[in-house]
Amino acid sequence: MQVYTKILIGMAVGAVIGLTLGPNSSLLEHDRYSYKDARRAELYLDRADPGSRLTLPGKAPLDLAVQEVVRGEVPDATGAQVEVVQWVRVDFPITEKLALLDEDGAFRERVGKRSGERVTAWLKLQQIPLDGGGIQTAPQPISALGDDIIAVLAPIGDLFMRLIKMVIVPLVFASLLVGVASLGDVRKLGRMGGKTLGLYLCTTAVAVTIGLACAHIIQPGDFIDQADRAALVAQFAGDAGSKASAAAEAPSTIENILSIIPLNPMESLSSGNMLQIIFFAVILGIALTMLGQGEGQPVVRFFDRIQQAMIIVIHIVMAIAPYGVAALVAEVVGTSGFSVLKALLVYGLAVLAGLSLHAGLVYGGLVVFKARLKWLDFMRAIRPAQLIAFSTSSSSAALPVSMECAEQNLGVSNATSSFVLPLGSTVNMDGTALYQGVAAIFIAQVFQMDLTIADQLSIVLAATMASVGAAGVPGAGMVTLAMVLTASGIPQVGLALILGMDRLLDMFRTAVNVTGDLAVTSVMAVSEGESIRVLSDAEDQADPERGFEHRLDKDEHPVEPD
Ligand code: ASP
Repeated sequence: MQVYTKILIGMAVGAVIGLTLGPNSSLLEHDRYSYKDARRAELYLDRADPGSRLTLPGKAPLDLAVQEVVRGEVPDATGAQVEVVQWVRVDFPITEKLALLDEDGAFRERVGKRSGERVTAWLKLQQIPLDGGGIQTAPQPISALGDDIIAVLAPIGDLFMRLIKMVIVPLVFASLLVGVASLGDVRKLGRMGGKTLGLYLCTTAVAVTIGLACAHIIQPGDFIDQADRAALVAQFAGDAGSKASAAAEAPSTIENILSIIPLNPMESLSSGNMLQIIFFAVILGIALTMLGQGEGQPVVRFFDRIQQAMIIVIHIVMAIAPYGVAALVAEVVGTSGFSVLKALLVYGLAVLAGLSLHAGLVYGGLVVFKARLKWLDFMRAIRPAQLIAFSTSSSSAALPVSMECAEQNLGVSNATSSFVLPLGSTVNMDGTALYQGVAAIFIAQVFQMDLTIADQLSIVLAATMASVGAAGVPGAGMVTLAMVLTASGIPQVGLALILGMDRLLDMFRTAVNVTGDLAVTSVMAVSEGESIRVLSDAEDQADPERGFEHRLDKDEHPVEPD
């Protein structure tokens, strides 16, 4: 069975586990309230005494087990009495973390218990009257069993993510250095760099424009009613604030450009700062070719072997990919609430329509007309990278696999793939930019704002720039979206509307980001005079030196030091 088939099966299994056994599964009893920050839970030791409010000592996660539910009638916006859950009697353990945070002992004194013991308290639910009638309570309970199942699976996903990320820095550094040294021509490199960046920026600007167009045609903002809006804002407002403040701390564009030059290359390598690593590897590669008379050769050979060894490591990691992917997908599917999905369905569909259009038209055009490959063959060749991007929501994590796909399945040279792809995984995020275009218009529609052409141009510009600055990690696009909203005067509280859907859409936009990187890589390879073609499944099976199959079947040879 091909690697990508196994990964696909892993994803399907993960989705089924997430849906049926996850914290939001409708098959399980919802008996837990879960807070990322304990201080946000409104707890009272005695529900009749407002003075008994319990403030938790610090920012620690808090899981509250439901013991008893108290309902009551409250008037909604139309004056009608509605029965809702007002209070929930809950209990929770005093974890070590909570105890440690309680430096002055005030919390322990109030509850009179020690670490490991359980505290019983009353949780007051928020009541949000909806304009059209009815009351929404917040937060919503989840299934304790489902939450625990996902928590047990999570380390498997983490293990896979860590293994694959472990490869990134040595692989990118070594292969870029070897690639640049083997080019041996600084002008060629400069030309390639200019063309690559130009193509990346153009495709991104087109992506945002497609996003804006989709949002205008589909008008997802019209499908969200007051009830959904109020519920989403109540549920996610706190998290949206933290995204906005993360965006506010981001450096300016000039600082961003300057920071590409590392002060200490070792620090860049150890912190995994991709643009700095690229810069240093390119400079060192050029310098090695300038040493003359093949003097740089031993160093280049050394890094060439490191690169080869890293490729073997990727193949080892890909062998466990189906399990890692299953755990990652189960987590995302299990924790994305259905209520959110229903409310934001049209918005999500608008994003997906935009992403498909962009991939089909722009990448399809580039691949067929510029790289002279068949579209479906190309998509088959890059499928392992797309699946890893989709399940990890991280272009960086997918980078090692993208490089393997480009070199092994498409026949792109190491010099091109090791330069164009690491650059793309950081600066080219078409899917993210497109999604930001749709999100900005959607939020503006919900808040009934009219955006001028100038506002929309500023969205295109800001989203294109933001995608250059965003890191290839899950959720990065949401942080930079805060900047895009500010640039066009759209209220940042709108982030709370779309946050619940973000993680799922992140999977799709990351797959598109990676597809874009690989489409541009193919175009660059052809424009540099390389002849590329897609490796067929049969060739992959037959030749252990190429493709993804049987790469680990090689014999091991002990290494004898000279
Ligand atoms: N997760 C995306 C990536 O790694 C970035 C984002 O859109 O959040 O490419």
